[in-house]
Amino acid sequence: MYRKVKGFRDIFGSEAAAWERVERAFRDTFHTFSFSEFVLPVLERTEVFNRGIGSTTDIVEKEMFAFEDRDGTQVALRPEGTASIVRAYVENKLFNPPEVKKYFYMGPMFRRERPQKGRFRQFFQAGVEVFGTSAPALDAEVIHLLDTLAVNAGIGDMVTMEINSIGCPACRPGYQEKLLNYLREHSSELCEDCVRRLDRNPMRILDCKNEKCKGVTSEAPVMLDHLCGDCVEHFDNVKEYLDDFGVEYSVNKMMVRGLDYYVRTAFEMVTTSLGSQNAVGAGGRYDGLVKLLGGPEIPGIGFALGIDRFVSLLMLKEEVEEQKADVFVIAFKDVSDRKAVQLLRWFREKGIKTLMDYDMRAMKKQMKKADQSGARFTLILGEDELEKGEVSVKDMHSGGQELVQIDKITDYISDKLG
Ligand code: ATP
Ligand code: MG
Repeated sequence: MYRKVKGFRDIFGSEAAAWERVERAFRDTFHTFSFSEFVLPVLERTEVFNRGIGSTTDIVEKEMFAFEDRDGTQVALRPEGTASIVRAYVENKLFNPPEVKKYFYMGPMFRRERPQKGRFRQFFQAGVEVFGTSAPALDAEVIHLLDTLAVNAGIGDMVTMEINSIGCPACRPGYQEKLLNYLREHSSELCEDCVRRLDRNPMRILDCKNEKCKGVTSEAPVMLDHLCGDCVEHFDNVKEYLDDFGVEYSVNKMMVRGLDYYVRTAFEMVTTSLGSQNAVGAGGRYDGLVKLLGGPEIPGIGFALGIDRFVSLLMLKEEVEEQKADVFVIAFKDVSDRKAVQLLRWFREKGIKTLMDYDMRAMKKQMKKADQSGARFTLILGEDELEKGEVSVKDMHSGGQELVQIDKITDYISDKLG
């Protein structure tokens, strides 16, 4: 017997059913917001992620599945979608003609982190990226979209939205200096990771989950109190539009993004229902990322959410049933098997979900199967019925049974299903 690789998992049964419901709700919602799909490669040159995600991030420092291909190319399984989509946007010159582009993607991501409940080495994300405008109404729309995805996937009441502004190149450097001075004074009270972050990525310390660090940072200066005029105006506008879109949110002053090219709006959707894995989705505005990956200076904003976590939340709420057939056809070998197959074809041409038991065992066994299948109708093609050109239809809800002309059967079932 073979076992799957550590941190990877199989998804089937009721989880797959919940998965399908969530993905379907996502697709519909993306289209409602006028986003088009972008299907991206799962493998990219490692450099795309090193540059696009940043070499001081956890992802690039220790979580990438990176390896050398047989021809010597350094490649990596994608740990996220943003760097890939920006690479594709630049490579395909999608900034010509200059207009706003709204994309969504869905698919597996790979990060070599410590597997634990709700944290896998292959997990799935859905996300969006919008290029071409820094208008605050777009920030609000993108946050509204994330919120709507939760509502439409059926978990709207299990999540909350937090937003923040992390400033821009005009106001952030001055703030960062104040922060660094404060943190240096308290460096002896910080965890090991954060002592390292002091030189490389001080704002990330605000985000540390360690209790000691939280004690230090609770008194630290925050970006929100040091925004420049433009950033204040942008943030105020975003909040107004969020009110207009009807999105409920709270401001979390401690939310940060580790990288320089993130500006202004940052947001996270969180839950209290999944233990320590409380992040469901996160996003923010980035200027300079397109340029960093070789394109012109074009602003962007996006988010990524964890599909696995959405599905876990939905499953906490309800048992999502697997799809059931509309019709179960019972036939008998060398009597009605060929007619039954023909019926299957007719039903399926009409989109009526149909199945039969190809082993065609005794009537009683097939009836039991039909029952277990949860099909709404069971059709019995016995010798007597066949001779008269009829089929016996049992309504599994009411228990009632009727004879119907075989050539009228698809219309009959369509009508009944409504
Ligand atoms: P975390 O703080 O949980 O590590 P992150 O900051 O690494 O999250 P992002 O890179 O922002 O997460 O990814 C967006 C979403 O993808 C997360 O909010 C989460 O729902 C999901 N996600 C990230 N890593 C994993 C994982 N290893 N397993 C399952 N879901 C994940
Ligand atoms: Mg992570």
